[in-house]
Amino acid sequence: MKEFKIILSTLLLIGLISCTPKTQNVTKVDVESVVDLPSEIEKVVKTDQEWKAELTEQEYYVIRDKGTERPHTSNLLDNKEAGVYTCKACSLPLFSSHTKYKSGTGWPSYYEPIKKDYIKEDTDYNLGYARTEVVCARCDGHLGHVFPDGPKPTGLRYCINGVSLGFEKAEEDADKP
Ligand SMILES: [Zn+2]
Repeated sequence: MKEFKIILSTLLLIGLISCTPKTQNVTKVDVESVVDLPSEIEKVVKTDQEWKAELTEQEYYVIRDKGTERPHTSNLLDNKEAGVYTCKACSLPLFSSHTKYKSGTGWPSYYEPIKKDYIKEDTDYNLGYARTEVVCARCDGHLGHVFPDGPKPTGLRYCINGVSLGFEKAEEDADKP
C-alpha cells in the first residue's frame, strides 16, 4: 500500500511538471520602455497598390491576402530575446516576449496580446470549419488565429505568422530608472 502511495505521488508530480507552460522568457518586459502604447487606435487605411509597394511579396500574401507562412520558417520562431513584437505593416505593438511560448506548431505562439483592443477577432471558415482569425486593429492586417488550447494564465494560443510581425528588442537593463 505504501509503495502504491509513493508511485501515485510520483505520477502526480510528473503530471504537475509536464503541465507547466514552457514560457521562453519569464522576465516580464517593461513594454512601455520599448514602444509607445497608443490609448486610441487611429486606423491605417491604404490601397492594395500602396500595400504592394510597401510590403514584400510574401508579406503581402500573408498580411493582406490572409495567407499562411510555411511552419518552421520564421526567424522569430526561436527568438528568445526580451522585447516587443509589433505589426509588420503598421508597427502597432502586439505581443510582449514574456507571453511567447514554445507551442511546437512551427509558428510563433503567445498566450496573450499586449492589449486586448490592439487585436480584432473574426470568424473564418477557410478550412471548412470555424476558426477565430486575429487581425491588427490598426491596419486590419492578418496575423493568424487564436485557439483555446494555450497555457496558463489565459488558456489561449495566439498562433501568429512570423511574417506579420516585427520585433523591437528591449534595452539590456530595463530596470534602470
Ligand atoms: Zn497593423
